[in-house]
Amino acid sequence: MTDDIVGIDLGTTNSLIGVMEAGFPILLADANGARLTPSVVHFPETGEPVVGAAASRMRARQPQSTVYSAKRLIGLRGEDLPPEHTPADYRVVRQTGQPLRIQIRDRQYAPEEISTLVLKKLKADAEAALERTVARAVITVPAYFNDAQRNATKAAGEAAGFTVERIINEPTAAALAYGLDKLEAKSKIAVYDLGGGTFDISILELDNGVFQVLATSGDTHLGGDDVDEALVAECGLLIADWQKRELVIEAKHRLSTEMSVRIDVPFVEGKNLTYELTRDALEKIARPIIQRTRTHCLRALTDSKLAAADLDEVILVGGMTRMPLVRQLVADLFGREPNISQNPDEAVALGATIQAGILSGALRDVVLLDVTPLSLGIETFGGLMNVIIPRNSTIPVKAGEMFTTAVNQQRAMKIKVLQGEREMAADNWTLGEFELEFQPAPKGIARVGVQFEIDANGILQVLARDTKTGAEKVVALTSAVDASDEAVEAMIADSLEHAFEDMSERVWTETRLKSEEMLAAVEQALQLAGKRLTAAERDRIEQGANEVRRAIQTHETPRLKAANAALNDATQVLAALIVEQAMKEAATTASQATMPKMR
Ligand code: AMP
Repeated sequence: MTDDIVGIDLGTTNSLIGVMEAGFPILLADANGARLTPSVVHFPETGEPVVGAAASRMRARQPQSTVYSAKRLIGLRGEDLPPEHTPADYRVVRQTGQPLRIQIRDRQYAPEEISTLVLKKLKADAEAALERTVARAVITVPAYFNDAQRNATKAAGEAAGFTVERIINEPTAAALAYGLDKLEAKSKIAVYDLGGGTFDISILELDNGVFQVLATSGDTHLGGDDVDEALVAECGLLIADWQKRELVIEAKHRLSTEMSVRIDVPFVEGKNLTYELTRDALEKIARPIIQRTRTHCLRALTDSKLAAADLDEVILVGGMTRMPLVRQLVADLFGREPNISQNPDEAVALGATIQAGILSGALRDVVLLDVTPLSLGIETFGGLMNVIIPRNSTIPVKAGEMFTTAVNQQRAMKIKVLQGEREMAADNWTLGEFELEFQPAPKGIARVGVQFEIDANGILQVLARDTKTGAEKVVALTSAVDASDEAVEAMIADSLEHAFEDMSERVWTETRLKSEEMLAAVEQALQLAGKRLTAAERDRIEQGANEVRRAIQTHETPRLKAANAALNDATQVLAALIVEQAMKEAATTASQATMPKMR
């Protein structure tokens, strides 16, 4: 065992692994010399699963038992996956409230089991290349991955036999690979990532050697596959679709450096066929697909409150950015030539390896930080959102607050963990829910501390503790909310749009809770000491209480506030009587306590 930490790009289409050797990051190849391992697993009828290029070749021939793009399913529940995004070739079991499962013949697999198989192959290949074992890893995920998706990725790494040292964002890794951590402070970087199946645009800011994600946008169903599909549909040769696919992909790749290609398809029913394609024809087919990345880029710029001219660098990630048409579109859009100094399909893995090098001590001087995209909190009495970690907090972060009970003799407190920017709990997303039991006591007596901790991997742990008994629960959140970049934007836009209503709803709810508390207290006090009031005093209190009850029905905050104040005034004498009585009682209990116990 060594102290090596490997860097892994666990991609939707392809995965890579690298390690620091003599101070340089290098990517490791498998026994066939390939550094890109297709993230594909084929389950043969008998025997062990097949992973990588061999599995990829089975995809067209045995689609129902060949799983690709498992990354799109990881950490999601049934309701998180729209039917139109369910892979068509193999069967995905979608059940509301349940993690997605992949059905292969009579067995079901969790998406992370597929990732584990891919990671195991990367580990074995790396160990064969290095001739030593590797046990620690840094793994990358998209910037928009939520807690559940990050957790599931980490679990996949651990099941493959790694200690997962860090989960880092892909655009941050790419920026490191391009050496952008050496830029001046406050540099702004756009990371344009177009792969086989997904498109992401991220705007980063470098601040004192730390990368922060300012904005992200993208489409988890846009990429080279769409171009391949359109080419297959245009290909008039009389051959099977899987043969067409292999053909058009090869042509597409060659057309990144050539202007036209001719590929011979041998031995089809005894005769040779030829497939011809020009770069012009390819671009005509690909243009409308590539154009779809435009709006996401513009949106990310708007969200980060930047103009294209404010950017210091635009870097390219993903195999599809080798295509001249893509580079042209990016240049036009951002008004500058993109930086193409790195291999776009290797940049993320290289960055992960550099981060691994920093962690293992092989490299120094770079710190990576990310921020929380949305606020995190819990629901409190009355359905309000109580923020514990505000949006844009730099992680890792730990924060907590004390809460008490709102009902007498309450035996348990429900902790509902929320994510979002809205004032009312119901308008935010629920990440998870659990109960903490405690000893029953009058309301307001129990003290429950709730602590949120987000580790360097962006994984949230919630701890709730009854401070009296020390009973506690720690919950790592496992439920999923698809916090796609678009959903995050929509949440923020909504919170701005509803800011005024939200705030007045919060003030109303808080006032109403106060009224209810007062009414109950007044009732109790009247029972205890009401007899000692004059008729006029009693009358005034009853009228005050009645006005509070009427005002509660109106949803008019000023009226209810005024009624609360009037009732508070009217009960001054009663309050004084109660205090007096309590002091007398305390004196008697104290004298009783000194008496010897009867046996
Ligand atoms: P990635 O997901 O980053 O591995 O990117 C894979 C996508 O890039 C696939 O659609 C590939 O067909 C495409 N790709 C890889 N190499 C090239 C190339 N030289 N020219 C055009 N597209 C490419």
